[in-house]
Amino acid sequence: MEENAKKILLIVVAVACIAAAGIITYKTMGGGTTAAGQPTGKVWVKCNNPKCGHEYEISAKEYTDFMMSNGGPRQFMMSGAVPMKCPKCNEDSVFKAMKCEKCGKVFFPGTVEGKAEDTCPGCGYSPSTAPAKKT
Ligand SMILES: [Zn+2]
Ligand SMILES: [Zn+2]
Repeated sequence: MEENAKKILLIVVAVACIAAAGIITYKTMGGGTTAAGQPTGKVWVKCNNPKCGHEYEISAKEYTDFMMSNGGPRQFMMSGAVPMKCPKCNEDSVFKAMKCEKCGKVFFPGTVEGKAEDTCPGCGYSPSTAPAKKT
């Protein structure tokens, strides 16, 4: 009887060890998988209505969801970005924009003619053509 109890205890301990190892493996392996494939961060959007010009940040996921529900990236490539509704002026005139890391201006890519797409119309800074940052 006592021998059986010991055996059961050993089995319980072994199972607990396997379960614990499994949880640890799951946690270390699974860390970040929830975020994998999901866009993170934020994107700047701006209202193209000259009377409004409202600019605000949305999550990258929100933007991707909007894009996907409006034909997906292919549609965007073919006929340009579909505007989102502006929460301020209620016009369908909100497009993805960029924020200048130098002066903080929010602008549409390609605003500055003859320059890189990401050139800021405010201060002329362009991350893609700027010299590499000193480390
Ligand atoms: Zn607006
Ligand atoms: Zn700037």
